[in-house]
Amino acid sequence: MVETKWMEELKRKYYSGISNLFVITGNINDYPVPNYLFKDYLFDSLYDMSFDNVLNFTPVTKPCDGSSMIDCLCDTIMNNKEKTAIIISYPEFLFPNTPPEQMSPSDSTNYIKLYETINGKNFIKSDNLIIFLTESKYSINQKFLGANTRSTLIEVGYPQENERLEFLYYLKKTSKMNIKHEVSLEEFAKLTAGLTLVGIEDIYLQGEVAGVLKREFVVERKKELISKEYGEVIEVLDADGFTFDDFAGQEHLKEYHREVIINPMISGETDIVPKGILYTGPPGTGKTHFARCLSGEAGINFVELKMSKILDKWVGESEKRFEKALTCIESIAPVGVFIDEIDQAFSRGDNESNSVSRNLFGMFLTVLSDPDNRGNIIWIGAANYPNKIDEALKRTGRFDKKMPFLPPNKEDRIKVMKVHLNKAKYGNNITEKEFEILSDRIDGYTQAEIEGIITKALELVIRQRKKEITFEDLKYATELMVTAKNDKIDEMTKIAIDECNDLEFLPEEYRKS
Ligand code: ADP
Repeated sequence: MVETKWMEELKRKYYSGISNLFVITGNINDYPVPNYLFKDYLFDSLYDMSFDNVLNFTPVTKPCDGSSMIDCLCDTIMNNKEKTAIIISYPEFLFPNTPPEQMSPSDSTNYIKLYETINGKNFIKSDNLIIFLTESKYSINQKFLGANTRSTLIEVGYPQENERLEFLYYLKKTSKMNIKHEVSLEEFAKLTAGLTLVGIEDIYLQGEVAGVLKREFVVERKKELISKEYGEVIEVLDADGFTFDDFAGQEHLKEYHREVIINPMISGETDIVPKGILYTGPPGTGKTHFARCLSGEAGINFVELKMSKILDKWVGESEKRFEKALTCIESIAPVGVFIDEIDQAFSRGDNESNSVSRNLFGMFLTVLSDPDNRGNIIWIGAANYPNKIDEALKRTGRFDKKMPFLPPNKEDRIKVMKVHLNKAKYGNNITEKEFEILSDRIDGYTQAEIEGIITKALELVIRQRKKEITFEDLKYATELMVTAKNDKIDEMTKIAIDECNDLEFLPEEYRKS
């Protein structure tokens, strides 16, 4: 039987006497090796280690002698004469991940019984083995992670590109159907970063039903599976095919991103790549769009981390969701991770009831400072009010690069119009002079509002069944589409400029003042 890295670690630690209590977490509902379900693989591997018994306890296990499950479990641990491996599945349902004094009386009794048994001499000195099996280490009562000095946490990762490719070869070899491959298996493996092998098999089987495997189909199914797997916590955004040519203006920022992020990532010299970058400024000025174009240009994945969906009032639950999100992010690296309204997404909170926020804040700082993530995960925060971001996040080496995204000047307004007109693929013969007239009419509009004008003009053209957009259409669209410009936008613009501490990031016209 093929041995996975984590099984090898378990065996090594067990045989050398380092550990006989393991917490296995992570990707535990997948195929560890092709055609082997996780539990079957675990059972067979343990029998291979010559245990006399391999027992599986779940919260619904009903001992035949009528005792409680916990009593039976503790008795098995204490009094078993044979060499036994005990798997405790779904430990999150045994008792909650809270201190025992906050548990119900029956939960705390059960908790103390198991805790004492695991720390008892009988177990520690025995050849017996206990495995807690759970998707997230935050599901299990944290005391069990350090329950005895010999406990070890084993994290089962998501399949890497070479493992996905190997699995696809296996599927192709064992498939009885003759399917047409419009996407190569190599590309398929690349596109499915973040998915389990079960998820990949699911896509392959659907391809078998359709008789053909298409690239779009893989991308679509991947999006669906990721949102099923990771809830709405992570949204996969499409950056494929986008480049900085799709973004009008901010030439100074494009150049900076090329020199400090894209080129170093390509050449592998990632020391210079910032861990986090912060885009500031009013809504509709292109912060999300720039992040998308950056990811597309760098050829990396692009996702949005939705912190509002992660927060939950129960201690443990938010941490569990966040950990899952991080697992997903790590498994689809290299990736650009966009966090909108980062001032609200991460804050330490200022009173006791905010312990969840504080925990998440701490977890985020830990991943942010992990040197392995440099050049692999680009954290992109966006904020309308960067002055409200927790100072700890803005420290050197975190989100210290604050780049303003501001409503466009006359020249940039023309560029935004042109980008969207080119995308529309409708002919136009608008002169430079006419563009200038239009641009003057929409002073104060944001980039998103200008896109709205082009969309409106296109709608007019389609309704009139014309083949070309004229100056008159655009002029009329500027009359119809009103700007939401207000004091708040001015305030946000000013804050973005004031917060910027590196003149290189400011548009030229703001550098003098
Ligand atoms: P923000 O994140 O700052 O609120 P978005 O990036 O969501 O703004 O912008 C909204 C839309 O406006 C984008 O989908 C994009 O099509 C358009 N847009 C914004 N900035 C630009 C730009 N510089 N060039 C072209 N289109 C832009």
